[in-house]
Amino acid sequence: NLGGGALGPEQQGLVVAHFGTQVEVESAPGETRRCHLRANLGSLVTGDRVIWCDGDPTGVVVAQLDRDSELCRPDNYGQLKPVAANIDRIFIVVAARPEPHANLIDRYLVASETVGIEPVLVLNKVDLLEAEPELASALAAMLQPYSDLGYSTLRVSAREGGTQSLQAALLEHTSIFVGQSGVGKSSLVNSLLPGLDLRVGALSELTQKGTHTTTTAQLFHLPCGGSLIDSPGIREFGLWHMTREQVELGFREFRRHLGHCRFRDCQHQQEPGCAILQAVEQSEISAERLASYRRIVASLDEGQGGPG
Ligand code: GDP
Ligand code: ZN
Repeated sequence: NLGGGALGPEQQGLVVAHFGTQVEVESAPGETRRCHLRANLGSLVTGDRVIWCDGDPTGVVVAQLDRDSELCRPDNYGQLKPVAANIDRIFIVVAARPEPHANLIDRYLVASETVGIEPVLVLNKVDLLEAEPELASALAAMLQPYSDLGYSTLRVSAREGGTQSLQAALLEHTSIFVGQSGVGKSSLVNSLLPGLDLRVGALSELTQKGTHTTTTAQLFHLPCGGSLIDSPGIREFGLWHMTREQVELGFREFRRHLGHCRFRDCQHQQEPGCAILQAVEQSEISAERLASYRRIVASLDEGQGGPG
């Protein structure tokens, strides 16, 4: 009914998926419209808030509103590209199995701190712990230092339907789930989004070929409240490239010591007058976290390789 290239009035919308040069824009809950972008716009990503106009056969996005946050990852040429916008909570999922590693948790925390998005630690599969008290106390001991640092930690079970605390933390936020393979991210998404078929159906419709696009991030409104942005790529957030400076700042308890090392470019290895080493000696920073910092920095050096 908007024929001849005529456009409807401007309205605000939310990008819930993007495909090549087009995006899926939601105007009201559950109401989406395929749109192309007006030529002067940069690329849009899932989670972007936009101004758009309806049209035939597709709508047109005419403006992009400012982003509160963005997740970027390097493309094949090593250039950082935004992949999702306006996320304000990162759930770092760990589980009794596969065995969690503090170093990996620290990596996810650093990545979250770097983008300025609040991380929350989620221990999934707590149903397994009833029969294994030793494992239960080992995990509790592993997570305690993170609560002490001010990070929220939740205990849930995707299998036993024990996700109330997670649902409460998702409420009114736009979140992502990250974590090692096998910790239960898909199970959590499935339990929060009953009707996976609907999701799959929505995806197939979007690609218009009945095929899955597994690389693009999609935004889902959760029946329990809150939104989730998810894709296989998003779940690998935290394993993307980071710099030594980001790692240093990402250990939040390091920050107030950082200006105080004798050498401005101190690497906190064994330099004299290192404020971080001193803080470890005075038990203000844990030796484990310092070791973890060093391990992450060492992995960066390896990743970057030598010249040539
Ligand atoms: P993902 O790789 O992080 O997406 O993990 P999945 O959701 O695929 O789960 C990996 C395995 O853990 C599957 O066999 C799940 O059934 C199992 N799993 C997930 N959540 C729970 C849970 O809360 N309790 C138990 N016991 N197993 C779970
Ligand atoms: Zn130092």
